[in-house]
Amino acid sequence: MGDATRPTNFIQNIIDEDRRTGKHGGRVHTRFPPEPNGYLHIGHAKSICLNFGIAAANGGLCNLRFDDTNPSKEDVEYVESIQEDVRWLGFDWGDRLFYASDYFERLYECAEELIRKGKAYVCDLSPQEIREYRGTLTRPGKDSPYRNRSVEENLDLFRRMRAGEFPDGSRVLRARIDMASPNLNMRDPVLYRILRATHHRTGDAWCIYPMYDYAHPISDALEGITHSICTLEFEDHRPLYDWTLENLDFEDRPQQIEFARLELTHTVMSKRLLRQLVEEKLVQGWDDPRMPTISGLRRRGYTPEAIRDFCDRIGVAKANSVVDIALLEHCIREDLNRRAPRVMAVLRPLRVVLENYPPDRVEWLEAENNPENPAQGTRKVPFSRELYIERDDFAENPPAKFFRLAPGREVRLKHAYIIKCERVVKDDATGEVLAVHCTYDPESRSGGATAGRKVKGTLHWVSAGHALPATVRLYDHLFVEAAGGQEEDWLARLNPRSLEELKGCMLEPAAAAAQPGDRFQFLRQGYFFADPVDSQPGAPVFNRIVALRDSWAKVSKAEGAPGGA
Ligand code: ATP
Ligand code: MG
Repeated sequence: MGDATRPTNFIQNIIDEDRRTGKHGGRVHTRFPPEPNGYLHIGHAKSICLNFGIAAANGGLCNLRFDDTNPSKEDVEYVESIQEDVRWLGFDWGDRLFYASDYFERLYECAEELIRKGKAYVCDLSPQEIREYRGTLTRPGKDSPYRNRSVEENLDLFRRMRAGEFPDGSRVLRARIDMASPNLNMRDPVLYRILRATHHRTGDAWCIYPMYDYAHPISDALEGITHSICTLEFEDHRPLYDWTLENLDFEDRPQQIEFARLELTHTVMSKRLLRQLVEEKLVQGWDDPRMPTISGLRRRGYTPEAIRDFCDRIGVAKANSVVDIALLEHCIREDLNRRAPRVMAVLRPLRVVLENYPPDRVEWLEAENNPENPAQGTRKVPFSRELYIERDDFAENPPAKFFRLAPGREVRLKHAYIIKCERVVKDDATGEVLAVHCTYDPESRSGGATAGRKVKGTLHWVSAGHALPATVRLYDHLFVEAAGGQEEDWLARLNPRSLEELKGCMLEPAAAAAQPGDRFQFLRQGYFFADPVDSQPGAPVFNRIVALRDSWAKVSKAEGAPGGA
């Protein structure tokens, strides 16, 4: 975006031109039209930000419309989750919540109008025959033997289709366009089918349902939409969109504009595939924190601000491309770097005993909450004789360039003292390290005589007597490779190590006081979110939103890629 309110992209250019020429009376009215057949994903967020953003930037309106023309796959659960997700992302459709099913009667009347104009006919070919008659890209189609039925016969048959006189699939209503059109979508496409399925809103009132390509332009026109923004796969459907509105004599017709859909590495981006993951219990639900769904990202701990920032950075283009998931991770880091207070949490605890620290003593040391945001102030962290550090931060036989704790070596404890490893306590039978005994330098804290002493490593830690145990979930990408999931065996690329659950992690008191929904940076470990579903009072569960190392910032610096920090 150029500035906060004025996007620069080819869609905004079209709108600028339309407003200049006074098209649509200068109005801008968009809509976000999900089909309620699954939960929204981050690709939908791109469309939501675009539609609501374009409307807001141009003093216009954006509707939320459910494209509910396919009753067998749709459900109120999805209708509700979609509204929650759009609202959570920060957008407001005011009193303009609509359903294509609101227009079923109007759509039916429009179909009769097309019949009366000789622009639609009832066809008795089987679905298989319709496919055969359609031809291919290189071979023109063949007229249906029912194409020249009289208007009277068509009206009679269509009314009887509605009245339920014919079995499912036995007849369809088709547009009468051109079986030789180079565009397959224009070869007499089906407008209505017979389907006895209970609709989540209209119940059993209908046994014929309109096709998407027919219902969509009419719904847009009825709502006064000016710019009907959709993804590229609908480009070849645009002539049908226009044909429908022209032949129904709509004035001030909306313009369909296509943009590239978002694809992300290391995940899949289709409700059908996401539903399969849920139904086959390969994830724990639509809101599993590994899912690219809005509800999954929310449960993981993502903020709406970070998602909107991501959608701004990827921009809007005409050509399909795959975006590195590292950019999404970069956006949440940028957001939380300013917002999330730092605390110390030890994920895999190793006991440290300070032999020269008095057993009964506790010092409450001052620690800054966020070096990036001094307004967040400071807190007190308890320090005592027995501490925990990360198991990984100690090595009995340190490899080269290991600057953490090892026998005879010194490290600094963050916000506290320098300690030196004096001896290791091991389990005789297994050889496992049970504890590390150290001494501390009482003068090494800020203000002390040896405060300026340099040591190579600084470790996070918690006081054993003050720590609260917690469960921590570490996530990795849901899919191991960077690919969109188009291929047959896409499930083979599921990452078997996408979730690691750690019990008995130790938190400093400030983190232990977390409320569900709070976010922190655990020093050196990443950004974490107190899971609002699984956390219990006194037994928090934290989801790692993202680790600290930013592969995107590195890549974008090296390549000068757009969107980099
Ligand atoms: P899916 O293939 O995931 O089921 P869809 O396009 O069938 O997606 P809809 O509910 O029909 O899902 O989509 C609602 C709107 O969101 C449409 O305008 C669609 O173009 C847009 N949309 C869907 N997926 C993406 C994506 N990956 N990137 C950008 N926009 C998308
Ligand atoms: Mg769809």
